[in-house]
Amino acid sequence: MNIVIFGAPGSGKGTQSALLIEEYGYYHISTGDVLRAQIAQGTELGKIADSYISKGQLIPDELMIDILDEVLAEHPESAKGVIFDGFPRTIHQAETLDALLAKRNGKVDVVVGLEVEEEELIERLINRGKTSGRSDDNLDTIKKRLDVYNNQTNVLRDHYKSQGKYEAVHGMGSIEGIFENIKTLIEKHRSR
Ligand code: AMP
Repeated sequence: MNIVIFGAPGSGKGTQSALLIEEYGYYHISTGDVLRAQIAQGTELGKIADSYISKGQLIPDELMIDILDEVLAEHPESAKGVIFDGFPRTIHQAETLDALLAKRNGKVDVVVGLEVEEEELIERLINRGKTSGRSDDNLDTIKKRLDVYNNQTNVLRDHYKSQGKYEAVHGMGSIEGIFENIKTLIEKHRSR
């Protein structure tokens, strides 16, 4: 199964992905983590990525898609199933993902959308910023990231809803409670 964990910055994608990996053992890719690893290693790609990330902007689609393609190719176990965390973030990325998965006889099976109110998102990200060391977890950049989400990424909800793949999950409350809801939704799509 290919599962997309979808939601605004701070909605809990990383937290819930970690639980999903434990439960299902699928290959997990967080495009944000991949980019931050490049930054940490000081690579050319990392420098380019940092120039966007620190401003709260998205990495250009073609670059992001090339990176994703490469990581998946390096991990053949991903053919069994992937948890996509932070990808896709634009319609173009979503369409390219469909093509990429089709080449491996796969598809996006379900998109789990973690829905959290904006005030709560800001609070969570500011709190995370106290320990994350991330250049984008400060109020100015958080606001830019939320704008980018609202203007470029949120359209994917309707995109996947029209395909019958979007499942909204109330992303507030206990981590375990949210996870139980996610599992139920995934099981519903597994049998399709
Ligand atoms: P995240 O860790 O998912 O919050 O991502 C942190 C930052 O990495 C984002 O604000 C973007 O600058 C960049 N990024 C991560 N995933 C993508 C993506 N799919 N497309 C473009 N930029 C991305």
